[in-house]
Amino acid sequence: MSDEANPFESLQEQIDDAAAYIDVDDGLLTRLKNPERVLETNLTIRMDDGRLETFRAYRSQFNGDRGPYKGGIRFHPGVTRDEVKALSGWMVYKTATVDIPYGGGKGGIVVDPRELSTTELERLTRAFATELRPFVGEDKDIPAPDVNTGQREMNWIKDTYETLENTTEPGVVTGKALDSGGSEGRVEATGRSTMLTAREAFDYLGRDISGATVAVQGYGNAGSVAAKLLESDLGANVVAVSDSSGAVFNPAGLDAAAAKDYKTETGSVVGFDEATQELTNEELLELDVDLLVPAALENAIDGDLAERVEADVIVEAANGPLTPEADDVLTERDVHVFPDILANAGGVTVSYFEWVQNRQRFYWSEERVNDELERHITNAFDGLTEAYRAYDLPNFRTAAYVVALKRVIAAHAESGTWP
Ligand code: GLU
Repeated sequence: MSDEANPFESLQEQIDDAAAYIDVDDGLLTRLKNPERVLETNLTIRMDDGRLETFRAYRSQFNGDRGPYKGGIRFHPGVTRDEVKALSGWMVYKTATVDIPYGGGKGGIVVDPRELSTTELERLTRAFATELRPFVGEDKDIPAPDVNTGQREMNWIKDTYETLENTTEPGVVTGKALDSGGSEGRVEATGRSTMLTAREAFDYLGRDISGATVAVQGYGNAGSVAAKLLESDLGANVVAVSDSSGAVFNPAGLDAAAAKDYKTETGSVVGFDEATQELTNEELLELDVDLLVPAALENAIDGDLAERVEADVIVEAANGPLTPEADDVLTERDVHVFPDILANAGGVTVSYFEWVQNRQRFYWSEERVNDELERHITNAFDGLTEAYRAYDLPNFRTAAYVVALKRVIAAHAESGTWP
């Protein structure tokens, strides 16, 4: 993550940009820009060689006006308190944009999971789950996967919580494996919402997505699934993909699914045999493509780089990949940006379906999950473009925040202020 923009300040700026179009009390706005509480803790575990090691961890509960706090837990050496606060705030406005009954939260452990064995990672995850136990629950705060966490970690969290509470409560966490109460379609959900947003965006802009050239920065769960579905479902042409080791490019196109298989086998997309050229991540972001999908971490595109972006449309699969300066530059340059809080909202939307299924102990088909997801994303897209026109807004991010803020403010007003 570039250190030039503090993601928490970026979040606050995004909220302020939208609040300028809405009638909102100053005191309430301060609440809507700051977390309700942040847990900071230190997790001490025994390493395989017998040493004790301590890891800093956070859980930010940003806002619960619309329902229980909801959001992932990331394992990354770059995790900071402000990053977790920002990510938890983005969850509030994401769940409001797609209108699912949650607030927003996020957690993180400062750790490079590649340096830990599986048994060490299990102890670390269970130590965090133990610290989180009083604060989480299916009606309180519901963690989920994020960067470098997945089904395995969610299963450990569920098991730790259920063991300590002596109960069965699969809905305490989402993103679980299928046999542990997970949902069909959850693994692909984030990338699927990116694909659906791109489809709606091109349609809205009167452009053809079939044959459109695409560059994807970041090839984890969000980026690789988005790339694969853009090709298989929409006939787009993915020409470049990257991960933290670098980028690969073929102007004639790459098989996105084969690139993922190559990464799974070798650990990186670099070296993928269909590529004709290797690039840096920065060069990928500057490619002259129809669609650019940043799918890695925050601050991938800053104000300087935004001047050199050649793509016509950006659909954000990552959380917070553009700095506010980048947003200003791209708005000025008429590059259409479809924001994270819509374009990657599929993950939390299918988490919602998982939680509903867990509570009802009644499980849906993959087809039903995907149909419901499509309905949520297309409705949210329509709500956003409607606000864009009705308020004459400068860009689609501000439109999403206008829609979302109005929903959070309405929920707050209906509940009243107490005491
Ligand atoms: N970590 C994902 C996100 O940033 C998913 C969160 C969830 O499923 O609760 O949206």
